[in-house]
Amino acid sequence: MAQVSLRHVSKVYSGNVKAVSDVSLGIENKEFVVFVGPSGCGKSTTLRMIAGLEEISEGDIFIGDKLVNDVPAKDRDIAMVFQNYALYPHMTVYENMAFGLRLRKYSKAEIDQRVKEAAQMLGIAKYLNRRPKELSGGERQRVAVGRAIVRKPLVFLFDEPLSNLDAKMRVQMRTEINKLHTRLQSTMIYVTHDQVEAMTMGNRIVVMKDGIIHQVADPISLYDKPVNKFVAGFIGSPPMNFFMGRIIKYDGKFYFDEGTFKVKLVEDAVPKTRPYEDKEVIFGIRPEDIYDKLFVQEASPENTVTARVDVVEPMGSEVYLHMATPKNIFIARVGGHDKPEVNHDIDLVFDMSKTHFFDKDTEKAIV
Ligand code: ADP
Repeated sequence: MAQVSLRHVSKVYSGNVKAVSDVSLGIENKEFVVFVGPSGCGKSTTLRMIAGLEEISEGDIFIGDKLVNDVPAKDRDIAMVFQNYALYPHMTVYENMAFGLRLRKYSKAEIDQRVKEAAQMLGIAKYLNRRPKELSGGERQRVAVGRAIVRKPLVFLFDEPLSNLDAKMRVQMRTEINKLHTRLQSTMIYVTHDQVEAMTMGNRIVVMKDGIIHQVADPISLYDKPVNKFVAGFIGSPPMNFFMGRIIKYDGKFYFDEGTFKVKLVEDAVPKTRPYEDKEVIFGIRPEDIYDKLFVQEASPENTVTARVDVVEPMGSEVYLHMATPKNIFIARVGGHDKPEVNHDIDLVFDMSKTHFFDKDTEKAIV
């Protein structure tokens, strides 16, 4: 069993740099957990503490049932894949993959079997006699993954392994690592700054900022129910639109009033926003929940917003409309054939059942 447990883990680097603050998290056996957050949020430090490459300043880390705080990296039964591959340049692919097993005194036959099996799995069997410099970036990363697989570790740790690859190769390797997880059924912990990678790979995602965990959830819950404005804005592309404004009651109905437009809240949103009546809140709506009124059959004036088209960005299957009200800018993600004229006003329909509200001071979701 390879569950990993972090209990009140902190890391302070010399110079009093607080990289990780009081992180507690349980990772289940066979789970694929992704740590995501902007650069400098402490995700690599957390991974490196799990790996044993970085000392823990405070707290405990368990791998399986074993407290590993003082266990050296080589005895933790983990394997790590790095962004820069970290292959030995003078060794062949075969030797690179076999190296760790040799150190651990595995028999020649066992090493041969494991290396060939992993090479097969990763489609690099024909490169076993090449040196790393004779391989493409994607192939090198496969070798690095292969070197981790042959160890059959309790836990795989990945530190931004796809960052050096071009966009197409990244997408391909993403799928392959997903398949590998299904096939190997091992515990995997993966660090990335890329929210798309996080959303497509993890069973659960840990969103970090400034050394603190903001939310831990499966991808859909994270997307639908972000706990605060940071998570709401970080997950999703283009990001969620935010508007400052007030909750008002008018004629017995509740509205969000931006100042230059007003939209009616759905029934579900009324109980939670009622305490904010006449107060300022942050209103959030994702670009895909805004429609061009021309393509909506039953639009109501109560959720229609008139705004100016600033930029039309065709993406092929869809179009990003960069819009402006007199007070705010926002993005609508509409159908690929929608080509409104720039600098003209158009009517947009907000799907009010998909809206989010955040407290102006704490930026926490109003639930
Ligand atoms: P991330 O992986 O999310 O980009 P890191 O874990 O690498 O973030 O870094 C978290 C914080 O710790 C950053 O502010 C970074 O500058 C700092 N940091 C990382 N490594 C060291 C180090 N060896 N010495 C001092 N500060 C460090």
